[in-house]
Amino acid sequence: MTDTAAAPSADTPAPAPAPVPVPEHPHPPTLIAPVPAVPGKQQWGRVLICGGTNWLSLGKKGLPADPLSPDLPAPHTLRSLSNVKATGVYTSHSGCHAIVIDVSGAAYLFGRNSSSSLGLPASQHPSVSGQTPRRLLPTSLGAPQGTKFTHAACGRNHSVLVGDDGSVWTAGVNAHGQCGHPAGGEVGAFKLIQGGWARGKLREKAVFASAGVTFTLVLTESGRVYAFGSGEHGQLGNGRTGERIAQANKTTYDIEDEPILVKGPLDGKKVVQIACGQQHAIALTMDGLCYVWGFNGYCRLGLGHQKDVLTPTLVPQFAGANEMTRGAFVAAGPTATIVIDRQRMLLMAGKFKTSGAGSVGQPFTTFRYFAEIQGCKMLLAAAGGVTHFATAEDDDSPTGAAGIMTIAWGQNAINSELGLGEGQPKSTPKPVRVETLNGVDVIGLAAGQNTSFFLARPNEALAELPRFPEAVPAPNLCVVCDEDREASGEEALECEKCDTPYHLGCLDPPLQAIPEGQWFCPKCEKEFAEVPVVVVGLAAKKGVGKEGKEEGEPKKRGRPAKRKAEDNDEPEAKKVKVAKK
Ligand SMILES: [Zn+2]
Ligand SMILES: [Zn+2]
Repeated sequence: MTDTAAAPSADTPAPAPAPVPVPEHPHPPTLIAPVPAVPGKQQWGRVLICGGTNWLSLGKKGLPADPLSPDLPAPHTLRSLSNVKATGVYTSHSGCHAIVIDVSGAAYLFGRNSSSSLGLPASQHPSVSGQTPRRLLPTSLGAPQGTKFTHAACGRNHSVLVGDDGSVWTAGVNAHGQCGHPAGGEVGAFKLIQGGWARGKLREKAVFASAGVTFTLVLTESGRVYAFGSGEHGQLGNGRTGERIAQANKTTYDIEDEPILVKGPLDGKKVVQIACGQQHAIALTMDGLCYVWGFNGYCRLGLGHQKDVLTPTLVPQFAGANEMTRGAFVAAGPTATIVIDRQRMLLMAGKFKTSGAGSVGQPFTTFRYFAEIQGCKMLLAAAGGVTHFATAEDDDSPTGAAGIMTIAWGQNAINSELGLGEGQPKSTPKPVRVETLNGVDVIGLAAGQNTSFFLARPNEALAELPRFPEAVPAPNLCVVCDEDREASGEEALECEKCDTPYHLGCLDPPLQAIPEGQWFCPKCEKEFAEVPVVVVGLAAKKGVGKEGKEEGEPKKRGRPAKRKAEDNDEPEAKKVKVAKK
């Protein structure tokens, strides 16, 4: 690692850890991540994307490339959501779709729509472009006015939405009951689960979900875990696989399409976070204890053996008397499990590489740390198809305190999903700093099968990132006056999202100078407002440009309008002086 605290080599004892305050609830359901609240800093971010965007061809060989859906070698601001204040971004390590939730409680869904996992009939909508995500409100699923989506989860071919009223909706493949509805076929539109948590004397709210390939877990407000789907490897944690001979030469397993409470050792424990691999799971309790269950090939449960585990089982490594060695955050990859302990050290078990330690022949049979990042204070982690991401405190941040660095590693990445940049290696077996995100404070991670997503706080570095798509059709001239005033030196601003130009003086109220930070035109500023606003003309919108500015939001800095190609012979001196760099 460069630019980090010197990582001690593996044979030097780790320095005595300084006590680190552990958030009371390491994984608040409204946030993707246990980012400690920083006073004056908002807990929302903008959505960044890198890696594959050609949803239908990802992971499939021999399909033609689409120039409009390239592999993005570095994180780009997703232009369609550039004006959305996102609180979470979610995807699946084994899937090619994503869900973004914003501060108003709307969900934005895009990607491959296999088995109607986006809640639209797959026969009519094989995929939804990230440039035109599907926007969904809880009210359109029958929820009472004012209900917000607060959380989501993606399985390979199914999706889960969680509302702030504790409701859970699912859509997508349901062959094994992984949507929590009577098993069979697919659920073609998001449908409310009448889960066990919603009934009887145990009645309470669901707050969080995580999805594997054929099973789903739901976490409730009081810390109970419910499971549904198939249990052939014990992934439902109910102590059995339900294996039986259905007919000659055919074995079947129990399916639980009615959510069941995961009991046993979890009884009486308050679980604060859950994560699903393809067919295994990990749960973190308030006390920092980690319980694992399900498929255990490559020792992915970190218990030192490969036998499937049918009941939640305590991982001894995180159960010691020293509280600092207990868990603070958990994540799961397809065939691996990640724990960040309370010293903020990242440890991993299972298979996560194609060669060397951590590969098929030499999986991590118990949780092990990485010498390269041992000195980093880890905040978050995520694992995609072959990728691994983590964020850590960045002491060397040029902006001073509270900087966050992003770290990535993974072998056999072919779509640039590590985001290391143009001309850089697509794979790296050892953790490296993601230089393309230098200065960008990533507060949320979502690693997909071939695509990676980041949630980043608005700041100068974020404003410098490229946008995807790079260009969109936009008028040449200010849309208010439709006049070319460049000769008189009148400055124009260009909207970050739609590239539409506005003269400073044509805005209402007029602006005296190019504003700092991101600037969105009145139309884009209002686009996803909770209350629909009819844009009837600029004069109708008093104070546009000031609205939406919140405590702690960085100063806005607009994008000066670029002259279109035909005006290239205009004198350079007449152009706007506020350059991006
Ligand atoms: Zn104008
Ligand atoms: Zn705009």
